Amino acid sequence: MFDLVPEDGYEVRRIQPYQATKTYLCPGCNRDIPPGLGHMVAVPSDAPDLRRHWHYGCWQARHRRMPRG
Ligand SMILES: [Zn+2]
Repeated sequence: MFDLVPEDGYEVRRIQPYQATKTYLCPGCNRDIPPGLGHMVAVPSDAPDLRRHWHYGCWQARHRRMPRG
């Protein structure tokens, strides 16, 4: 199990493997998220069209590498 790290201004949703029907590009590692792989999506509250799909680990690593401030 992964805890989804919340982000101010984003809605973070879990994508189950059966819901992953396309290949997405993870902005954290610039690698594909293949169909059938559980991952997550971060949706900006003020710009839902700009949602990005992330590997769980990349989302969490993003927080470690990019502290606020
Ligand atoms: Zn990634």
